[in-house]
Amino acid sequence: MTYLFEPAAITSLPIVGSEKLFPVRRIFCVGRNYAEHTREMGGNPETETPVFFLKPAEALVAEGGDIPYPSATEDFHHEVELVVALKSGGTNISATESLQHVFGFAVGVDLTRRDLQKICKDNRHPWDVAKAFEHSAPCGKITPSEKQSTLPDSAAISLTVNLDIKQKARLGDMIWSVENIIAHLSRLFELRSGDIIMTGTPAGVGPLHRGETVTATVEGLEPLVFRVS
Ligand code: MN
Repeated sequence: MTYLFEPAAITSLPIVGSEKLFPVRRIFCVGRNYAEHTREMGGNPETETPVFFLKPAEALVAEGGDIPYPSATEDFHHEVELVVALKSGGTNISATESLQHVFGFAVGVDLTRRDLQKICKDNRHPWDVAKAFEHSAPCGKITPSEKQSTLPDSAAISLTVNLDIKQKARLGDMIWSVENIIAHLSRLFELRSGDIIMTGTPAGVGPLHRGETVTATVEGLEPLVFRVS
């Protein structure tokens, strides 16, 4: 049997210190995982828990480069996020066992059509048009994690546009830790090797314009740099 047409290529991410590529299966995303960001979006972190949504693997842009300004928006926003890459998975994973499924960590940016997201929220529509468009998930190289350890709570996460710092927080500011995110997600989906998770963004999200250069960092990981074209 042959395919009717050439199947899409496997999306993948490079790995620090390895010639092998990490093949990406799905991109899970967490919304409202930092209290200050929930507030800046008009929500209440006391009463609203984090939410999940997905982007297609195809939305990934490995190691940044040039990101085209998307169609149909006049308010294209950056959201810097810690990305968790899974080497295995399952269902009903406990928080204490979660880190054995983690291959490593990377820096990603959840690019968002904020104006369309507001319309989605106002009309109780799904978020796909705001979140799941092409090139909406630039992501840096994966740094393999040491023996079932996570990154320290003190690690800084930040994003600059040109030379201006727009977002800066600590990973310890996350409402759900990496362990808790994996535990929650695995009750809703059967997690698999190749799944990656964008773990939510801190406060300071804002618009990007053509020609701007974005540098996204998490202390201890390879920075991600891209330019909006
Ligand atoms: Mn996000």
